[in-house]
Amino acid sequence: MYSESVPVHLVRHPIVLEGLLELRDVSTDPPRFRHIANRISILLAAEALADLPVREVTVQTPLGPAPGVRVAADIVVVPVLRAGLGMLGAVLELCPAARVGHIGLQRDETTAIAWQYYTRLPDGLRHSYVLVIDPMLATGGSAVAALDSLFAAGAIDVRIVCIVAAPEGLALVDRHYPQVRVFTPVVDDGLNAQKYIVPGLGDFGDRLYGT
Ligand code: URA
Repeated sequence: MYSESVPVHLVRHPIVLEGLLELRDVSTDPPRFRHIANRISILLAAEALADLPVREVTVQTPLGPAPGVRVAADIVVVPVLRAGLGMLGAVLELCPAARVGHIGLQRDETTAIAWQYYTRLPDGLRHSYVLVIDPMLATGGSAVAALDSLFAAGAIDVRIVCIVAAPEGLALVDRHYPQVRVFTPVVDDGLNAQKYIVPGLGDFGDRLYGT
């Protein structure tokens, strides 16, 4: 049971939790896995962006003026390749105007150390709300590498959205970037010798793409 005092925003929506169970189930095939990952990601991203600034506007209904708000924020979403791509469509569904950066990180199968092979980020991140999407926060090595790039590029407000987190990953992110909030439905028991999350759901990218 997770008991450390690492700041994490647990998203315990029943639809997210039911979807997570289906993602964990070894019998869930890639088309279903993609569908459920997308559904969960919409709810997680909505929660991660719940405090976006808005400006007040008025529109005309057929019966007269109606006050309301529009989002007044530049949103940047950064999938960590390749598994993060499974969450991208969901965030763009919520925020069609979001700008998209990409960070390519390859985990060495034996050392589990992340190697950054590709980075392409939008300009002017200083005033942006940046969402890093990386479904499995395992050792935290990839997340910290992604955060290093984003803060070096000028980002200030960065949040991580994941589908399963491990205590080790949360602790590493907290040690390097205590100001970064992590949005996840669950914190699992920990990592196995191969640095997979237990019970986790296996290799997210493989489950997503059927590799
Ligand atoms: N990446 C995955 O896809 N699964 C894990 O359990 C850990 C990292």
